[in-house]
Amino acid sequence: MKRFLLYLFRWQLSTPILWVVVRNLGAGIWSTVAANLIGGAIFFWVDRFIFTSYAVEVWQFKDKGRCDRCGREESLWRLVRAANYDRRDARPVFLCMDCSKAKTDALRAQGYRIRGKSR
Ligand SMILES: [Zn+2]
Repeated sequence: MKRFLLYLFRWQLSTPILWVVVRNLGAGIWSTVAANLIGGAIFFWVDRFIFTSYAVEVWQFKDKGRCDRCGREESLWRLVRAANYDRRDARPVFLCMDCSKAKTDALRAQGYRIRGKSR
């Protein structure tokens, strides 16, 4: 949801920039090219921020189930995606709160940028 809002904001940004550039240069093919170059230069950084930020972190939650690591019956969590972590295609592994915390700590130690879920 946060990511979606960021995206709406990102696309709103393009409107005034394109408008200002096109207006100042007069509408023509070169001004459109210039507008797109300027827009692209700006949005490269905006996109980079969005895709490397913690906002992309995605967790799956199961209200009740058996932990894949310790077998305890509890609410389960699965990290699907983080800034530089993507397990959307992997076999789902659901972990209880304790195992999940241990796993995210281990992943963080390996350099993954994981914020962790908020309870
Ligand atoms: Zn567990």
